[in-house]
Amino acid sequence: MSFFFRTFAPDFENQYPMRRIFSRSVFVAIVLLCAQLYAVPAFAWGQKGHRIIAKIAYDHLSRRARRNVDAVLGEQGMIYLANWADEIKSDTIYSNSYDWHFQDFPSGLTKQDIFSSRDRYPAEGGNMFRALDSLNQEILNHKSEINPHTLRFLIHLSGDLYCPMHMAHMDDRGGNDVHMKWFGCDTRLHTVWDERLIESQGYSYTEYAAKLEREYEASRKPLLGDQWSEKELIWNTYQLTEQIYAYQPVWDGNTYHYIYRWRQPMEYQLYVAGIRLAKLLNELYR
Ligand SMILES: [Zn+2]
Repeated sequence: MSFFFRTFAPDFENQYPMRRIFSRSVFVAIVLLCAQLYAVPAFAWGQKGHRIIAKIAYDHLSRRARRNVDAVLGEQGMIYLANWADEIKSDTIYSNSYDWHFQDFPSGLTKQDIFSSRDRYPAEGGNMFRALDSLNQEILNHKSEINPHTLRFLIHLSGDLYCPMHMAHMDDRGGNDVHMKWFGCDTRLHTVWDERLIESQGYSYTEYAAKLEREYEASRKPLLGDQWSEKELIWNTYQLTEQIYAYQPVWDGNTYHYIYRWRQPMEYQLYVAGIRLAKLLNELYR
């Protein structure tokens, strides 16, 4: 066999230059794919994540809340518009909303630190807490005639609230300066949590929402009720973020190992965000 290849392989190459063209195009495709993956802007939770959250929330709205939300955003509109707040970031009219999407913290904070920062908005690290409270108040004040933009922001930012890299470190811009490889391509820790982990599972947003609703059914009531305060869930998210950072130096660089370690915690955060958004809207429209 080896004689065959030694003798005929060069001729084969000359007769079939397609093979070389093919390998070159595969190389170019991989480079382009990596470039594309790297260049994708950091959309909190990514488009799919926000749709999953909104779908879970929509499925758990009270009849009254759904009627009201549909009246403002159209039927299922809260799902279709869940990414609007990211899409408008490039519009100068909305440029002041850029830091509404995150609330970064330094590491080593205590539960009490996190609890009090929810009430007394930190001077640095983003304006997510302040934005959420203002939007909430705006809706309560104008219940009969809600500005659709207010509701769109509230739906989106309620998802960002449970996105670990939107409660990450200030000094690396929420994990945007933490470089890592994802199946050989350059990416950043922030993007891994916004998009790569979710995309790695290959579900559509409706399939993903249905899967999480089934898997976390036992957590639904405690999250919809008063068993968990928002502050405790924020504290959980902060602790998760700290664990994610601590894993970086011990990770062996294998993408499959990363997915194996973090898929479940990521999915739980999506579920929490969805159910808590339903709870928020149900209470606003009670
Ligand atoms: Zn966002």
